[in-house]
Amino acid sequence: MTAAVIDGKAFAEGLRARVGTLAVAFEAKAGRKAGLAVVLVGEDPASQVYVRSKGKSTLEAGMNSFEHKLPADTSEADLLAVVEQLNADPAVDGILVQLPLPAHMDEQKVIATIAPDKDVDGFHVINAGRLAVGQTGFVPCTPLGCLMLLKDRLGDLSGLDAVVIGRSNIVGKPMAQLLIAQSCTVTVAHSRTKDLADVVRRADIVVAAVGRPAMVKGDWIKPGAVVIDVGINRVAGAVEGKTKLVGDVDYASAVAVASAITPVPGGVGPMTIAVLLRNALVAAYRNAGLELAADAV
Ligand code: NAD
Repeated sequence: MTAAVIDGKAFAEGLRARVGTLAVAFEAKAGRKAGLAVVLVGEDPASQVYVRSKGKSTLEAGMNSFEHKLPADTSEADLLAVVEQLNADPAVDGILVQLPLPAHMDEQKVIATIAPDKDVDGFHVINAGRLAVGQTGFVPCTPLGCLMLLKDRLGDLSGLDAVVIGRSNIVGKPMAQLLIAQSCTVTVAHSRTKDLADVVRRADIVVAAVGRPAMVKGDWIKPGAVVIDVGINRVAGAVEGKTKLVGDVDYASAVAVASAITPVPGGVGPMTIAVLLRNALVAAYRNAGLELAADAV
């Protein structure tokens, strides 16, 4: 069997187009554009690229983008004051503080200062709690994007065995919660899991979010399983001096066993920004008290 390739890039483009249409409708109803604020502290090159790309995508989706770039030596109190100001600004529907923050800042404290109803990253404990108990809130973008790809591929997930490898707050744990809510039987594996290959072999759905290049081998995969590879690892490429991106799954061996698999790049990666735009749009509708059908986007 050769797995179908799950085209996250194409799915993300479709999602962004739907968000764009709904952003136009929002502007007509609310008399203002939806707005997403991104706060960047310091000059981390990767973070600068992400923030630029988020800002550009936000504008392309027909929303306002507010960028706040603060120097690396900004005090925590000054950053918290910027977040408070964005909390109070009615033009701002969503707030994202780009992580990681400089070492002298307490990330949890900063996240806790974001108004939960503007927390489009879904990192605030209130939103983690809402997800855990099944209330409406904001779900972290990467796992929500993974769920969208899975539902698009499989339809009803009820009763399927899912193994999530990784237990981080931004990917593994919320992914597990989302799959439980879809009535999957969920196992969360992590660095202390015994016989990981055997655990993974039980799964109809494998979500790998580890950060170890090509760790999950094809012979760990149950024939016909659907594999979602969240990993983004930069490794040496074939050409000397050049690097390339690989996932947490050994694509060449897994593609021969799975029924469907996300490539890296072009799988989960493009979904994250698309879901961020989706969350910002949903925040705008909610904050303006406007109806948005649950399945609209
Ligand atoms: P993390 O480092 O916070 O968590 C990694 C998890 O993997 C931990 O829970 C750990 O227990 C587990 N783990 C580590 N070694 C293991 C092993 N040998 N066996 C089993 N489990 C092991 O990472 P994260 O933030 O959750 O990200 C995971 C990966 O996903 C990274 O490669 C990251 O770059 C990528 N990522 C991609 C996107 C995207 O947009 N596609 C978004 C977030 C993260």
